[in-house]
Amino acid sequence: MQTMEGKTGIVFGIANDRSYAWYITKQLIAAGANLGFSHLPGEKMARRVNLALEELGLTDSWLCPCNVADDESLDQLFESIRAKYGKIDFIVHSVAFADRTFLQLGNFHTTTRACWNQALDISAYSLLAISQRAISLMPDGGSIISMSYYGGEKVVPGYNVMGIAKAALEHTTRYLAAELGEHNIRVNSISGGPLRTLAAMAVGGIGFMFEHHAKRAPLRRNIEGEEVGDAAVFLLSDASSGITGEIMHVDTGFNVLGI
Ligand code: NAD
Repeated sequence: MQTMEGKTGIVFGIANDRSYAWYITKQLIAAGANLGFSHLPGEKMARRVNLALEELGLTDSWLCPCNVADDESLDQLFESIRAKYGKIDFIVHSVAFADRTFLQLGNFHTTTRACWNQALDISAYSLLAISQRAISLMPDGGSIISMSYYGGEKVVPGYNVMGIAKAALEHTTRYLAAELGEHNIRVNSISGGPLRTLAAMAVGGIGFMFEHHAKRAPLRRNIEGEEVGDAAVFLLSDASSGITGEIMHVDTGFNVLGI
């Protein structure tokens, strides 16, 4: 039985009502979870997040800004989480960034050191930075998930440096799972199919990706945000108590194809 009644968690990564984090929030609320939210600093962003949450009927949510590339910002956030909740049960990491200049078809080989470092810092190291701060807030154990994509396993033209970041994110998931298991903290990742979000729109050739995916995937369609949300609820709930270090594909089956 997939219920989140009595569980409290923090969601990172809502930018608007198309974000994967928004769909995950939608399904978590339906399952009865108690949620707090962290977003990129800035008044404008806070307003956008609040608007997106209002659409889900959440009018008085606990929001805390945090730049996941900044240790001080992360320390402040986790102090605030401790002060607000004392302890938590789960975390949703749904955050990524890369300079879109380097997410164009055929230009992976031009990636600069600065672009590489920023993409891997925000999109992969941040999972480690968040997890290490979460341990002491999860005395009864917990569940941490992040969002990955198939471009971390295979070459997807245009995905470029984000593919490298996703490969790092996925293997970070495994190493974290191996160490945090002794605290009964599980760490998993969802490899989601392409969804029309702000981040996705930065990727060159994304239109073709949606078309190709819908045509070729075993289920002959693209993924719905709610389907990833349901998988997230599963991985965050006790229904998945035996699963850790897993990269779960929720992509209408696309990843099983050879050609
Ligand atoms: P999105 O643009 O809605 O979400 C990305 C989020 O990352 C935004 O909320 C943004 O504010 C946040 N962010 C970026 N830099 C940050 C920083 N320094 N500090 C704090 N937050 C920061 O797009 P999305 O597609 O929902 O992306 C969410 C996750 O899902 C990402 O990890 C993305 O790679 C992954 N994903 C997306 C797709 C897709 O097709 N949309 C597919 C698979 C995986």
